[in-house]
Amino acid sequence: MVDGDADVARWIRPEVRALSSYHVTDPGECVKLDAMENPYSWPPQVVEEWLERLRGVCVNRYPDPEARVLAARLRTAMAVPEDAALLLGNGSDELIQIIALAVSDAGRTVLTPEPTFVIYRSVATVCGLRYASVPLRATDFALDMEAMRRAITRYQPAVIFLASPNNPTGNVFAAEEIAEIIDLAPGLVVIDEAYAPFARISVMDQVGCRENLLVMRTLSKVGLAGLRLGVLAGTAGCIRELNKIRLPYNVNTLTQVSAEFALTHQGLFDEQIRKIRHSRSELFRALQQRTAVHPWPSQANFLLFRVSACSAASLFDGLRARGVLIKNMDGSNPLLANCLRVTVGTAAENRVFLNALDRALLW
Ligand SMILES: *Cc1c(COP(=O)(O)O)cnc(C)c1O
Repeated sequence: MVDGDADVARWIRPEVRALSSYHVTDPGECVKLDAMENPYSWPPQVVEEWLERLRGVCVNRYPDPEARVLAARLRTAMAVPEDAALLLGNGSDELIQIIALAVSDAGRTVLTPEPTFVIYRSVATVCGLRYASVPLRATDFALDMEAMRRAITRYQPAVIFLASPNNPTGNVFAAEEIAEIIDLAPGLVVIDEAYAPFARISVMDQVGCRENLLVMRTLSKVGLAGLRLGVLAGTAGCIRELNKIRLPYNVNTLTQVSAEFALTHQGLFDEQIRKIRHSRSELFRALQQRTAVHPWPSQANFLLFRVSACSAASLFDGLRARGVLIKNMDGSNPLLANCLRVTVGTAAENRVFLNALDRALLW
């Protein structure tokens, strides 16, 4: 620390100073199975077509502020009900922040089950909201509805975030339990469907009928993580208010044009998702056969497993030393003790992972 830093730090809010910045491990040369990315690229002739489209882009001009062409394509691709409105974000992370900024006021609470996506907590904290969480059931990570009902009564949450399928547990929450929470909630309920394409279930069809319901999607997990594009669907009234908080031109021109292009190749992505779902079952069975690890069933593009033969940290290090990067979840939540999360890769990548796993467990 240089002289004067302490003086500057005094101006940073204590709750911000208490946070750590979002940590991403440098993959180096590792097979990258840590971040739920789609492992497949595009055929060369699709890449050529895409580059041709980009040639016509005027980067000296601001993007279309409403991203109208892209929004229209997303509506069709995601079967957004006609009377619902859309808000696009620089990733769904930005949409989470917009929602939190919109409701932030003294004494207001964001409620989520836990373990879940960590950004809900950090964004709520930065936006000056209280954060409350209800533990999921330890055996199957289902919602503890008794505890959820009590928490809703007690905190009267301004927003409830429910990721379904949930990250990092991979399970979907029961439809009737989601419906009950939407009914009971005094405030907004955001169903985060980042992994819905891998689960083939959605509450998108209810947007517009339920006034407090927002459904969030992202293109990150289905193959466009580098573009940063999140989608929020809600009633016209709610989206109109949230749109006031969005910074102008938050979705850049290259993202608008590229995502729009990608959506004209829906078949390509559907096929990649089909392959990932297939590899997920194979990988699940392979992990089940190994006595040292215990995987949970998943409806997403990753698997959570507990290791019993050694510590999660030593398995994580052992895999990394053998060229495979996954995510160590140990320490992030009591329910995730000795757990790790692996993203489903290509069939070849999954074999590399399983080989490295066997060798690391032997060590
Ligand atoms: C990855 C993830 C997101 C973030 O998606 P971006 O669009 O890349 O910001 C949101 N919600 C959940 C549950 C996720 O796992």
